Amino acid sequence: MSKPESSVTVAANFLKPIVEADLQSGKHASIVTRFPPEPNGYLHIGHAKSICLNFGLAKEFGGVCNLRFDDTNPEKEEDEYIQAIQEDVQWLGFQWQGDVHYASDYFDQLFAWALHLIKQGLAYVCDLTPEQAREYRGDLKTPGKNSPYRERSVEENLALFERMRAGEFADGDCVLRAKIDMASRNMNMRDPILYRIRHAHHHQTGDKWCIYPSYDFTHGQSDAIEGITHSICTLEFEDHRPLYEWFLEHLPVPSQPRQYEMARLNLNYTVTSKRKLKKLVDDNHVSGWDDPRMSTLQGYRRRGYTPASIRNFCDMIGVNRAGGIVDLSMLEFCIREDLDNNAARAMCVLKPLKVVITNYPENQTEQLELARHPKNEEMGKRVIPFAREIYIDASDYEEQPPKGFKRLVPGGEVRLRGSYVIRADEAIRDAQGNIVELRCTYDAETLGKNPEGRKVKGVIHWVPVAESVECEVRLYDRLFKTPNPDKAEDGSDVESFLENINPESLVVLKGCRAEPSLAQAKVGEGFQFEREGYFCVDSRDSTPDAMVFNRTVTLRDSWGK
Ligand code: ATP
Ligand code: MG
Repeated sequence: MSKPESSVTVAANFLKPIVEADLQSGKHASIVTRFPPEPNGYLHIGHAKSICLNFGLAKEFGGVCNLRFDDTNPEKEEDEYIQAIQEDVQWLGFQWQGDVHYASDYFDQLFAWALHLIKQGLAYVCDLTPEQAREYRGDLKTPGKNSPYRERSVEENLALFERMRAGEFADGDCVLRAKIDMASRNMNMRDPILYRIRHAHHHQTGDKWCIYPSYDFTHGQSDAIEGITHSICTLEFEDHRPLYEWFLEHLPVPSQPRQYEMARLNLNYTVTSKRKLKKLVDDNHVSGWDDPRMSTLQGYRRRGYTPASIRNFCDMIGVNRAGGIVDLSMLEFCIREDLDNNAARAMCVLKPLKVVITNYPENQTEQLELARHPKNEEMGKRVIPFAREIYIDASDYEEQPPKGFKRLVPGGEVRLRGSYVIRADEAIRDAQGNIVELRCTYDAETLGKNPEGRKVKGVIHWVPVAESVECEVRLYDRLFKTPNPDKAEDGSDVESFLENINPESLVVLKGCRAEPSLAQAKVGEGFQFEREGYFCVDSRDSTPDAMVFNRTVTLRDSWGK
């Protein structure tokens, strides 16, 4: 049998027809996109949308995609993030073109272009304090006022800017601004800042600079230097596009990229802001950036999400300009369907109850073979020794069964998955009255066969007592209990999103028992624990002697039900 196809439906991506038309018309011979993270945190699921889009377009249309660190902010950036971001992009299945780029690679060129603007009379050094500058800027209803420093001569500006660079001023003393239009209805065009003074060490350029270019003055020009054809960002930057284009028009740039905006990915029950994710880590609400409840790619990976499931999710949500909130159950659908198709089946008893099969010979063991996947024979088989003493899950035996209970009841029968039918004869209790063991009998004629003259409906999972592997199982659930973590259940505001953390987002079970084949489970491999959900080996805490499994997702969407 061949591998089942994914049933994910691909939603529209408004950028594809644009790229297609640009290639067809000959505007571009091939396309170049880029993914431009700021190295101030780990990548989250929102970034995955941007990665899949930028690398995906390049792949589909035979172009290339650059990875460029947007490192204009000297203080916030850390090498740890730079490494992790590269790992994450590759884990998602993408490879950038050539070397990694840094916006800071272009600081010399940007400085030269700043001089160019000054010489054209299009930039000036401004000494207004930040408060004064805010006042002069006006607001959406009031036009701004020209800075009293706006008419400085080219020579004076060149000299002052050179002194800014030479470190003669303190942070905040002055800035370099573009001379555009203080009355523009677009606030971004009201003489935006090009350079500010920051006496700070930069992880790429060291102490070479004490002035740093603004994001706006850096981004489009970096795109132009790299020959980016389609520069895709999120909608907040729509109002920056006129400025992006103004720089391209007024500077001798080597190419003319074009900016397109798309809606950000917002996912309910999830935060996708680096600031908030950092808060969760710093305040120890989670164990780190890779805590399996985090919306970071490192968190998803540790939780057992596969790259394919995240790529499928990004295909499914599509790319458009209308915002909106995506339902987390779509992401869960994608991982469930990937693991359903590709994960091996295994049995693991989460709350073990010992069962002694009294009519089974004491020194006998049978090596039962079970398929690793019901629909994919190529995945082979696993062996589970069956013996007189096994474990079943405590919740699979009920003395007062609710209606419709198809598992084990006193005097009733149930099938052990891949094995025999057993009947419950007697429950052994401890001094407190808790059931500590079941005595059962098995029907020796029921291996791979229906019992004679009666129907047995239920099937439960089990493991042998002797050969099973003791392990810890971590049941992960949604980190937030409300769809919008910034709001209470009734929609009213909360002081902090931290109030909405789901106290049951992690339940740790110790003393679980896994079938012997799971002792060989590797990090990165997903399993369906039959009847329990999808699980993987924890990459951080699991050891061969003390295995730890993480629940990736439940078998069905049962949230709130
Ligand atoms: P955050 O608000 O989490 O800090 P950011 O936009 O500042 O996110 P960057 O590192 O600057 O993060 O983003 C790198 C790229 O990823 C940018 O092109 C940005 O538009 C994109 N991106 C970030 N968050 C999302 C999101 N939620 N949906 C789609 N794209 C996103
Ligand atoms: Mg940013």
